[in-house]
Amino acid sequence: MGTQYLSKMFSTYIGLDLGTANCLVYVGDQGVVLAEPSVVAVKDNKQSMSVIAVGSEAKDMLGKTPVNIRAIRPMKDGVIADFQITEEMLRHFIRKGMRQVPWYRRILAPILVVAVPSGITEVEKRAVEDSAKRAGAGEVLLVEEPMAAAIGVGLPVADPAGSMIVDIGGGTTEVAVLSLTGIVSARSVRVGGDELDDAIMNHLRKVHNLLIGELTAERIKIKIGSAYPVKDEETLDVKGLDQASRIPKTVKITAAEIRIALQEPITSILEAVIGTLDDCPPDLAADLIDRGIMLAGGGAMLAGLDKLLTEETGLPVFVADNPLNAVVNGAGRMLQEEKLWSR
Ligand code: ADP
Ligand code: MG
Repeated sequence: MGTQYLSKMFSTYIGLDLGTANCLVYVGDQGVVLAEPSVVAVKDNKQSMSVIAVGSEAKDMLGKTPVNIRAIRPMKDGVIADFQITEEMLRHFIRKGMRQVPWYRRILAPILVVAVPSGITEVEKRAVEDSAKRAGAGEVLLVEEPMAAAIGVGLPVADPAGSMIVDIGGGTTEVAVLSLTGIVSARSVRVGGDELDDAIMNHLRKVHNLLIGELTAERIKIKIGSAYPVKDEETLDVKGLDQASRIPKTVKITAAEIRIALQEPITSILEAVIGTLDDCPPDLAADLIDRGIMLAGGGAMLAGLDKLLTEETGLPVFVADNPLNAVVNGAGRMLQEEKLWSR
């Protein structure tokens, strides 16, 4: 009792969303203190390598680095592709988050809640735990991302009724039906925003002989990408490299052609949603007729995705208010509401 009181007083609770595209840090009492791209820039020396930038600074270097510098996304495909770099990144973000904490709460090592994709293996889970500990965490609790996202957007997950969350991140899409603070049915597919960017890159190369980088592809997606026809469809001038002549050129593209280019990855996301509904016990599925589907994660902001899902499932679809913060808000809130851990 006494030590519990002391640790409440002098240690900090940190919620961490270790996303494939973005890392967010939530500090107890303060909320989200940090949100940065999950990118690390490293310099290769003869024998070793050194980290030269983490986060937004490193993301700006993607595709623009000289030979001995690499901008790495250590979790690109929804798994931890590079454990060492992931650990460096984790350490950087935990330290940076801890700077926002008053001194007397830095006396004890922070207690960390880390949201991880529900599809990761036991080995990967252990690696995240170990990395977080080496990076300075005292206790480490792991929570499955869809649970954190659902709590973060305020879905009534503790109710004896079904709630559905779809979290579309950079590398993965996590779909889950939750009831009584547990996951009833879930799917995790390695398709997310990155695949949409890849589809745009491929389209421009094949149809317009134009080579573009992943950052340009992402900008096109955010600007004119869509999953369903929208009013007043835009066109966009895109600059890149001519595939044959290797000379820079500009090409005009339309929202409609980008929508067609995005069809394949979007169908994979749709299939994950429909598959999860199929696996769901009938009574819980019935609850969703009124409660609908909640979209979170950066991919939720793709224009018309909600409309497409409504059309294909017949259910009401909502986009979370702050889709990028859903998971980290949930991880943060879980610390404060211990009853959510009771299971
Ligand atoms: P993760 O949890 O994997 O870190 P996020 O939830 O942070 O991913 O979402 C990042 C993804 O969301 C990226 O692929 C990004 O391009 C995409 N994204 C961000 N804003 C938009 C938007 N307005 N429209 C479509 N996609 C978006
Ligand atoms: Mg995420």
